[in-house]
Amino acid sequence: MHTRRLLALLTLLALCFSIAFAQTKSRPSDKFRQLEEILPTPNEQRAASGAPGHSYWQQRADYNINVELDDARQRIIGSEKVTYFNNSPDTLTYLWLQLDQNLFAKDSDTVKTQTAPDFSRIPFATIDNLLAREGFDGGDKIAFVRDGAGAALPYVINKTMMRIDLKAPLQSGQSTVFSVDWSYNINDAKRLGGRSGYEYFPQDKNYIYEIAQWFPRMAAYNDVSGWQHKQFLGSGEFTLEFGNYNVRITAPDDHIVAATGVLQNPNEVLTRAQRERLDQSRTAQQPVLIVTPDEARANETNKPRGTKTWIYAARDVRDFAFASSRKFIWDAQLHDVNGNRVMAMSYYPKEGDPLWSKYSTQAIIHTLNVYSRYSFTFPYPTAISVNGPVGGMEYPMICFNGPRPELDGSYSASTKYGLISVVIHEVGHNFFPMIVNSDERQWTWMDEGLNSFLQYLAEQEWERDYPSRRGEPKNITEYMQSENQVPIMTNSESVLQFGNNAYGKPATALNILRETVMGRELFDRAFREYAQRWKFKRPMPADFFRTMEDASAVDLDWFWRGWFYTTDHTDISIENVRLYGIDTHNPEIEKENERRDAAARPETLSQQRNKALPKRVEQFPSLNDFYNTYDQYRVTDRDREEFQRYVATLTDREKELLNSGLNFYVVDLKNIGGLVMPVILQMDYTDGTTEELRIPAEIWRLNNSDVSKLIVTKKEIRSITLDPHLETADVNVENNYFPRRPIKSRFQIFKEQQRPRNPIQEIERKPIQPEQQQTPQTQQAQPSPSPAASPTPTPASRP
Ligand SMILES: [Zn+2]
Repeated sequence: MHTRRLLALLTLLALCFSIAFAQTKSRPSDKFRQLEEILPTPNEQRAASGAPGHSYWQQRADYNINVELDDARQRIIGSEKVTYFNNSPDTLTYLWLQLDQNLFAKDSDTVKTQTAPDFSRIPFATIDNLLAREGFDGGDKIAFVRDGAGAALPYVINKTMMRIDLKAPLQSGQSTVFSVDWSYNINDAKRLGGRSGYEYFPQDKNYIYEIAQWFPRMAAYNDVSGWQHKQFLGSGEFTLEFGNYNVRITAPDDHIVAATGVLQNPNEVLTRAQRERLDQSRTAQQPVLIVTPDEARANETNKPRGTKTWIYAARDVRDFAFASSRKFIWDAQLHDVNGNRVMAMSYYPKEGDPLWSKYSTQAIIHTLNVYSRYSFTFPYPTAISVNGPVGGMEYPMICFNGPRPELDGSYSASTKYGLISVVIHEVGHNFFPMIVNSDERQWTWMDEGLNSFLQYLAEQEWERDYPSRRGEPKNITEYMQSENQVPIMTNSESVLQFGNNAYGKPATALNILRETVMGRELFDRAFREYAQRWKFKRPMPADFFRTMEDASAVDLDWFWRGWFYTTDHTDISIENVRLYGIDTHNPEIEKENERRDAAARPETLSQQRNKALPKRVEQFPSLNDFYNTYDQYRVTDRDREEFQRYVATLTDREKELLNSGLNFYVVDLKNIGGLVMPVILQMDYTDGTTEELRIPAEIWRLNNSDVSKLIVTKKEIRSITLDPHLETADVNVENNYFPRRPIKSRFQIFKEQQRPRNPIQEIERKPIQPEQQQTPQTQQAQPSPSPAASPTPTPASRP
C-alpha cells in the first residue's frame, strides 16, 4: 500500500512539475484552433451541420385570452386558457410561466440590484424615474390558477417566474389545459420606461396604450436549457414557444385597437367607412387612411359610451401584443411579398405627423421586401407599426416606434432617419427572433446582431448614402479598442456597452464576413440557409456558426473565435518593406550597380568638411601610384570570361529567370490588435498603375503576430496602403501606410477665457462691458462648456 501511495505521489508531483514547466514555456497562440472543444457536441436535436437534428422537438402553447383595458384606472384585467403540448421526450410534473410585469413590482430584483447613478451629471428624468417607481403599485396580481376542469392548481411565484404544479405528470406527447386570471396596473412608460405601458397627453387628456408582456406566458422548455426560467432583470428579453392565439380585447368603444394577428370581427368594431377604406387599401399603390387626421382629432374630444370587444386571431406566433387609443390615425396598404399578401399598417397620433403618414407604412413594406430576400418570405398576414411612448420594441406582426417631429411639425434629419431606421429594425425583428426563435434571455446578439445587420442592408437600399449608424466597419473601431468590454458571447443581462456589444459589433462582424471574408454570394446563400433551417424553430449560437460554414465551405472558426469569444480588435501594421533584386552575375550590370550604389551613399559630415583641406599627394604628386587612379568598378576581361563560364552552366529557363529584372518586395506585417483578419494591400507603382492584393486571414495561421508577404513585380512600388477601403475595422490606420504619411487633422485656437465675475462685482453690481460678460454667461447656459460651443455669443447675455 505504502509504495503504491508513494508512486502515486511521485506521479502527481511529476505531473504538477510538467504542468508548471509547460506553463513557463511561451507557446505560439493558435487563433485558428477549431471550435469543437468550445461548441456543444452535436446530437439528435442539433446536427453537426448546424441544421435541426432528426429528433429535433419543441413545445407548443395555444392561448385563448379575454382582456379588458381599463382606461379610467390604466389597468389590465385578464383571463387566459392555455393549452400546453409536451412534445419533448420528457415527463413534466410542473410548468413554468413568465410574469414579466413583476419587473415593476416594488421589491423586484431589477430595483434591488440597480446601482447608484452618476451624481456628477444627473438628469431630471433619472430622479423622476426613481420617484415614479417608488409610487407605482406594479406587478401581476394572480387571482387564481385552475386546471381544465376548473379545480384550483397550486402555484408558486418566484419573482418573474411562476411554477404551476400539475395534478398528474404530463407525459411526452400529451397536452394539458389550465387557466389563469390576473390583473395589473399599467406603467407610465414615459416616466417608468419599459417595453410597454401608457402615454398620457395632458392637452387632450387622452392615453395611448402599448400593451406587451401582459399575460402569463409559458416559459420555454428546450433541449439545451430545460426550462429557460432565468429571471427577467430587464435586458434579456424573451424565450417563448410558438402557438395559436385567440384574443378578445375589450376597450372603450371609441378606441382603435391594433394587435398581433387578423381582426376577426370587423363588422362589429369598425364603421362602414373604415371597412370600405380597408377594402380600397387592398389594391392601393400607397397607404390609404382608414382613420383620417380629422376623424382622430374629433375622437380626441369624445367620451366613450361603453366598450367594444376586438377579436384578434394569430397562428404560429411566439407572443401577442396590442395597442389602443382614441387618438390613433390609421393607414394601411396591402403588399404582396413573393405571393404572400400582407396588410402593412401604421397607427399614430396627430403628434406623429407629418413624419408618420409619409414614412411608417412605406418603411414597413420596404423592410418586408429586403428581409424576405435575405432570409425567407415574410409569412404573416399583417405587419404593423405603432407610435406611442415606447422608443422601439418588437412583437409578432406589431411593433412600437417612438420618433416624432417637433410640436410645430418640423423635424431634424436625425429624427427622420431615426424613424425610418427604427421601423426597419422593429419590423425586421419579425424575422429574428419572432420567427427564427432564438433564446433572447441568453443571447441578445442572436436577434439584435443579425437584425441590425439586415437593418443596415435595408437602409442602404432606402436611399443613396443612407446615414446608417451600424454596419460599416469604420463605425465600430472606437468601441473595439475601448476598455470596458466583454465578448459578444456573454449572457444578455451581463453585457457591457449593450448597444455596441449586442447590436453594433455582431452586425459589423457579419458585414465583414459578407464583404471581405466570404464574399456576397457565399455569405448570402449560407445566411439564407440558416434562416430557412431555423424559421419557426429555436437555434443556438453553434447552429448559426456551423450552418454558415456548412453551406459555404469556409472555415470560420477563427472568425467566430476572435469576434465572438474575445475582445480583440483589428490593428494590422505595415512594419517594413524590403526590396530584393536578382544578382545577374553579369559584371557589366553588377559592377555598374555597385558604382551607382557607392555614388549614392551619403557623404559623412567629416568627409564633407575634410574635402576642402589641402592634401599631401596634391602637394607632392609623385606620391601617387596605380591605386590612386584604379577604377575598382571597371569590368575586366577576366570578369567577362568568368561570367561566360557561369552562363554556360545554365539552362535556358535559368538564363531567362536571371535576366527577368524582377523586384522582390517583402512586406513585413504585424498583428497588433490580436484579431487575425484578411490583409488587403493596395500597391501604387511608380508607373502610375495600382494593384490590389486580397489575402485571406489564413496568412496568419502559422504565426498569429508577425508575417511577411512577398510581392514579385517588374514594377517599382511607390507606396502601399493596407485596408484601403476601410473594410476590416482596423482601429489604427496610421500604421496602414508605407511609407508613413502625416496624419491630417485640424485644431482650433481659442482666445483664453476671461475670468468669471468675482463676488465684489456680483455684490456691488459694477457695470460690466459686454465682452467681459459674455463668457461666464455662456458657460452657465452650457451644462458642459465645450470649446466648440462657447464662442457663440448669446444674445440674451447683452445688457
Ligand atoms: Zn432590436
